[in-house]
Amino acid sequence: MSFLPPSIVVFDLGKVLLDFDYSIAGRRIAACTNMSDDDVKRFLNQSPLLYRYETGPMTRQEFFDEVRQATGFRGDLAEFGGFFADIFSEMPPMIALHAALRRQGIPTYIFSNTNDLAIEHIRRNFPFFANFDGYILSYEVGSMKPDSKIYEALEALTGKRGAEILYLDDRPENVEAGAARGWQVILQTDPDQSRRAVEQLGLLAPA
Ligand SMILES: [Mg+2]
Repeated sequence: MSFLPPSIVVFDLGKVLLDFDYSIAGRRIAACTNMSDDDVKRFLNQSPLLYRYETGPMTRQEFFDEVRQATGFRGDLAEFGGFFADIFSEMPPMIALHAALRRQGIPTYIFSNTNDLAIEHIRRNFPFFANFDGYILSYEVGSMKPDSKIYEALEALTGKRGAEILYLDDRPENVEAGAARGWQVILQTDPDQSRRAVEQLGLLAPA
């Protein structure tokens, strides 16, 4: 019943808790190839290759081998991984919102389309990332939002369903897939609006 406050809060990662910019990776990687920054960025961000890597049938090494073949990248996997993953920055109001929910004792989860290079980098560089009750990651589940399999994996891991779940994501198709399962949802457009929406659901006192 949607008039009850949700009992867990599920966060998308990119553009919800962490900002990211693939053009940073494009520039650094392109410097080790004969391709332009934009071509490398497009290759990384929009190719079916990233989809395969982030849905798990492909290992980090296989991903790197295909990138090297397609771009002529001259460095090694460690160098590539550093460039590829170092594209994130914290969104401070959202990190604070998450911390406030933790202080209220509300369980929180990460629900992300991502890959192991990114997660390794994020674990090492962003302490807030340790403070969740669980992580539902596309490359581990073998499914990407908005595909139903990853939503089912979240429900199985948390033991929660329907309106017990509050879910924040910046992509309309992902949010809609959650709403279709009866989850309470917030389409994030800006952090202040997300904060107010969480307050209106009764999870936090107005700041
Ligand atoms: Mg996102």
